[in-house]
Amino acid sequence: MSARIIDGKSIAAELRGRIAQATASLTAAHKVTPCIAVVLVGDDPASTVYVRSKAKAVAEAGMRTFDRKLPAATNEAELRAVIAELNADRAVTGILVQLPLPPQIDAHRIISSIDPAKDVDGFHPINVGRLASGLPALVPCTPLGCVMLAKTVHASLTGFDAVVVGRSNIVGKPVAQLLLAENCTVTIAHSKTRDLPAVCRRADLLVAATGRPEMVRGDWIKPGATVIDVGINRVAGEAGKPKLVGDVAYDEAAAVAGAITPVPGGVGPMTIACLLLNTLRATCAQNGLAEPAI
Ligand code: NDP
Repeated sequence: MSARIIDGKSIAAELRGRIAQATASLTAAHKVTPCIAVVLVGDDPASTVYVRSKAKAVAEAGMRTFDRKLPAATNEAELRAVIAELNADRAVTGILVQLPLPPQIDAHRIISSIDPAKDVDGFHPINVGRLASGLPALVPCTPLGCVMLAKTVHASLTGFDAVVVGRSNIVGKPVAQLLLAENCTVTIAHSKTRDLPAVCRRADLLVAATGRPEMVRGDWIKPGATVIDVGINRVAGEAGKPKLVGDVAYDEAAAVAGAITPVPGGVGPMTIACLLLNTLRATCAQNGLAEPAI
């Protein structure tokens, strides 16, 4: 194995430490403490686990958080009323609506009802449009984490051929926008792309976000390329024990790539760290304060 392993776990821990310091300074100097309201509708077990780990990270960063738990039968008007209340609450500086929402609720309309200044997930159409226009925006957390990891390997990504496999609104498209802003030449590939292995082989920087376990093989990778694996897939491991794998066949890829993120311990930990970063930035903007250098 030759690739440098991009240790997302320790990079995220360092980032969280810097965010905690900046949060402490903000609270001490301006009596302002970032606060995330997490809205949970129903009791999807995966969401409950994720929300619990988010709450721990938020508390460790010196920020506040609270949950608004609503029954699974909540209708759209009731959920919108809760969001309107959180939008109006000056103490709440970030609002997260945990997805997926129950089928009776239109997630797009709900996300659009969040105050864009408090949209720490970066999913509001105004933030999506600002990112696409090259304007300052709250940017989705996982894509932001991907680019930060790539920049731990290369100080500048200018001129890189970047291939993003996946075009979801949550990962693929915003990663592509961020890489464009870093002056990469970006190709977005998807399930209808012709000869995907050949497209991937052009990439100096390959981001895989398909949700297809170990789909990207070693011989799809240009020697020396940087590989960012966003996938989190639970598969049967030895003796049927579940294990997590990415969208990239790790061992094969690591033999060819110059640098690669592992799964777990790569992009995953950066997502929560970037949520904290977004919340800090949103809090400063809402209070007319300059963004701290992180
Ligand atoms: P989606 O299912 O929303 O999107 C998957 C994308 O991959 C689609 O654009 C799809 O193409 C494309 N795709 C699927 N199969 C193929 C194929 N055979 N060849 C080429 N492209 C393909 O997934 P997400 O973007 O939400 O998530 C992607 C992965 O990232 C998942 O494993 C998810 O668990 C993980 N994830 C990890 C996070 C983290 O914190 N690390 C956060 C969010 C997601 P098409 O549009 O044509 O259907």
